[in-house]
Amino acid sequence: MEEEFASRVALTSHSGLNAIYPSQDPEMISFTGGFPDASLFPSAQLAASFQKAMQNQQAPLQYQVGEESQELRSLIANLLAADGTKTMAKQIMMTQGAQQGLDLVAKLLINKGDGLIVEGPTYIGALAAFDAYEPTYYTADMADDGMDLTAVKRILIQHQVKLIYTIPDFQNPTGVVMSVEKRRQLIALANKYDVVILEDAPYRWLRYEGSAQPSLKSLDTQGRVIQLGSFSKILAPALRLGWLTASTEMFGRLQELKAGTDLESSNLMIQTVTEYLGSYSLQDHLQQLRHNYRRKRDMMVAALQTYLPREACFTVPQGGFFSWLTMPKGFDLENVQNTQLKPNFHVMVIPSTHLFPGKGRRNGARISFSSVSATQIDLGIKRLGNGLSSSYQK
Ligand code: PMP
Repeated sequence: MEEEFASRVALTSHSGLNAIYPSQDPEMISFTGGFPDASLFPSAQLAASFQKAMQNQQAPLQYQVGEESQELRSLIANLLAADGTKTMAKQIMMTQGAQQGLDLVAKLLINKGDGLIVEGPTYIGALAAFDAYEPTYYTADMADDGMDLTAVKRILIQHQVKLIYTIPDFQNPTGVVMSVEKRRQLIALANKYDVVILEDAPYRWLRYEGSAQPSLKSLDTQGRVIQLGSFSKILAPALRLGWLTASTEMFGRLQELKAGTDLESSNLMIQTVTEYLGSYSLQDHLQQLRHNYRRKRDMMVAALQTYLPREACFTVPQGGFFSWLTMPKGFDLENVQNTQLKPNFHVMVIPSTHLFPGKGRRNGARISFSSVSATQIDLGIKRLGNGLSSSYQK
């Protein structure tokens, strides 16, 4: 059967997404999943909002017949405006999580072989979405202040590029924030070389210290930034509700592509979240999330400082869910994970191998602190430190 599959399958089947699935080992402490902390879901409020949605006159169980999502899109436009990004509700499209936005934008722009710049490392699920459109990937490595723009410029001079994909706030997987200077330069480069920017911002409102940088979308004057947002990390992923904002020109086409994929997002979930935002304070909820995740971040950083060997470097994220570990060149984290960390130390991270399009970089790993408990953080990072030290000396 395999030979009958379309060529796109050859790439997607190696996407590595299964690297984040839980292990069967009962002793395992896993820092792999970018899951939110389940104890922080506003379950009671969402249940009450769901009940209210079910009582609505507007037939929440039916296909949408008109502009049912209008109210939610207006509420999102207000949230974005309060964050400095001006958009109109009619340029906001509800999606099945930000993940669907990644797929739709690639579907809109990428023909087989088209140039696509991604950050190195980048979000594993974005590569899984993009792979299906068979782009030619170019990688701009991450620095402490965001993607390497000298590399971006070099790529743009040498190659035809359609799209630049970036996660400027608390990047997945490095936790890095792009500086405001780089944001401006990136927009200028995109303008000069006529490229679309896809700004993926699901962690943007989970900042634990420092002040927010302007979104790329807010700096865009030519309608070339498509921005993705999501309720997954700030309310709950099972809602499968995110949003996309794009220029009028691209928006209509994206809507048509979405209709071909799923007709529409769930009316029931749209109305549930509309009720939630109308009845409760999202800002209060975000405050609570930030308070809790900040504590976990602090514990994680303290544990990394205490237990990791001298040779290890790691990022200290100001928000989001991740820290990035780098070992010296030549250290193969995937191999060490399979032969040492998993079987002997009962600890797991996501090795960098899966997080670069070329899969050639092996000395880094993503460590997620969002869904592990305080005790697990301390014990798990101690195990990681011991596992790395013993493997480094060998
Ligand atoms: N983009 C990034 C950077 C992510 O980390 C994630 C989830 N891990 C997504 C998009 C997709 O999120 P969702 O579809 O749940 O909104």
